[in-house]
Amino acid sequence: MGQSRGYPSLRCFPWTFGETDGTIAGMRKSDVTCPNCKAGYRRIELMTRPGNRGEFRCLTCNHLLEVFDGSTEVALRLTVQPEKTLNDADNRF
Ligand SMILES: [Zn+2]
Repeated sequence: MGQSRGYPSLRCFPWTFGETDGTIAGMRKSDVTCPNCKAGYRRIELMTRPGNRGEFRCLTCNHLLEVFDGSTEVALRLTVQPEKTLNDADNRF
């Protein structure tokens, strides 16, 4: 998987952003990839309304992906399951 596709890193987030698509007024969509397990997330930020302070951790590996300051409302949804490269196949608790 190619990580950098030539997009300038204007943001200082520790993960790679994909291309944005269809920006509606007051809503910013982007794609987030977990740098740890490569799970893909669709990120939707509502610029017009305040959200909650908090943090978002990767649903599959618990890596901290984003800290919300509450200035905007942010929703993240898992869209791409990470490839199962870890040996969790035999781990049946
Ligand atoms: Zn992850």
